[in-house]
Amino acid sequence: MTPWFDTDKVFIGGRWEAPSGGETLPITDPSTGQEIGRIARGGPDDIDAAVVAARTALDGAWGKLTAAERGRLLARLGQLVTENADALAEMEATDVGKPLTQARADVTALARYCEFYAGAADKVMGQTIPFQQGFTVYTLREPIGVTGHIVPWNYPMQIIGRSLGASLAMGNACVLKPAEEACLTALAFADLARQAGFPDGAVNVVPGLGAEAGAALTAHPGIGHISFTGSVATGRLVQAAAAQNVIAVTLELGGKSPQLFFADADLDAALPYLVNAGLQNAGQTCSASSRILVERQRFEEVADRMAAAYHAKVAAPAMADRDLGPLISARQKEIVEGYLDLAGQGQRIAEGQITADAPRGGHYVAPVLLAGVAPEDRLAQEEIFGPVQVLIPFDDEDHAASIANGTAYGLVASVWSGDGGRQMRLAKRLRAGQVFLNNYGAAGGVELPFGGTGLSGHGREKGFEALYGFSSLKTVAAHHG
Ligand code: NDP
Repeated sequence: MTPWFDTDKVFIGGRWEAPSGGETLPITDPSTGQEIGRIARGGPDDIDAAVVAARTALDGAWGKLTAAERGRLLARLGQLVTENADALAEMEATDVGKPLTQARADVTALARYCEFYAGAADKVMGQTIPFQQGFTVYTLREPIGVTGHIVPWNYPMQIIGRSLGASLAMGNACVLKPAEEACLTALAFADLARQAGFPDGAVNVVPGLGAEAGAALTAHPGIGHISFTGSVATGRLVQAAAAQNVIAVTLELGGKSPQLFFADADLDAALPYLVNAGLQNAGQTCSASSRILVERQRFEEVADRMAAAYHAKVAAPAMADRDLGPLISARQKEIVEGYLDLAGQGQRIAEGQITADAPRGGHYVAPVLLAGVAPEDRLAQEEIFGPVQVLIPFDDEDHAASIANGTAYGLVASVWSGDGGRQMRLAKRLRAGQVFLNNYGAAGGVELPFGGTGLSGHGREKGFEALYGFSSLKTVAAHHG
């Protein structure tokens, strides 16, 4: 896998350049632990140059485009993503460690975000507002200006698609700081945007360390909005920095998302979702379903079926394209193993396998299914961000809702039940930004607004809602007598 662009450069103002400090950082393949290249170690000076380039684009060619013209550029970008699907998928699999099929799904999602926001760009409209005699009042949805985007390593392409796709459609100019552990497809995105014909400075990408380039971006006075996906701890830093410049932030900080399985539900239909929603991308998914709540009379049956599924799951190098890849890093593996150390032997009711020929330097963790964990236990409360799910029994609807709502998070929830009334009651009652009824995740639908409550963050991305978040509303009141 050799990218077609120089990986050790920053992309600012339409040009690839060496980072101002001249330093680089390693790219590590999580499947082997081996260094496979270098990325730029961008810093505050590069961020500053990127913000200036973005502002120049807004004041120049990019800012002059109509919404329809912006849409056409996004459509072209989506086509280029599709044309380069094989290369992008291989790049992501190698850089992030996700099985090739899952990396391909991310490419498809990125192309679909470009397509969706291409179509949406010229459909964002204001209102006319009935008002007093002699007035005509209307609203305009305008770009905010320069938007900052801090993206994590777990789904770079999907998060770039939903975040930059919406912001560019609204006419903002973007500065992206990808995660140091997964920069390749962010850089590829920049180059495809260049090929698609985006004016210089509309898209800028500055790889680097979070504490350097990321912190510089969040603190920069030229940024009008920050979109951040990642940990709660870093989210707090981002929000505090944004407060100094009094700008809005969108924070998507993960969760401890439950699936509620009632005795009247169809287990055959639910089983793939119960298991795979927890193990996709080796559980390193903000919307991973890490808690499976089961009505007590079917608990043993669900536990047995899930255990059988776990026994068949295999972690292997990303390019082997098995069920799971390695975790992103030795540090992430340590975090997950630290959580697993909290589980007593009897609580580990099923485990998958690591393929015998997995390279020793890779960061593999076999999936583990836990039971006998109290809902208030750390294993059932904290985001583990690895291939670990916790099974918890409940007695009735009230009990299920109270366990489901009993964490500090609130990102996603699902209800498996044949009772329509119960579905509707719980859809209202569950504390989550998305509730799924007899499914989980709706195949990641790019059209569906997404975000959380509580520690899961605030603001909404995806769908049309994201366009509102990336716009500034102006009210015009004309007094004409
Ligand atoms: P972080 O939240 O630290 O990283 C997310 C992004 O923020 C990365 O681009 C990172 O850059 C950047 N960043 C880090 N520090 C700063 C800062 N001071 N200012 C601005 N940006 C910064 O997550 P980690 O990668 O450290 O993962 C730790 C835990 O976070 C995981 O175990 C998981 O629980 C959670 N997480 C949740 C995600 C989600 O989708 N909700 C995604 C990733 C992690 P860099 O990586 O270069 O340091």
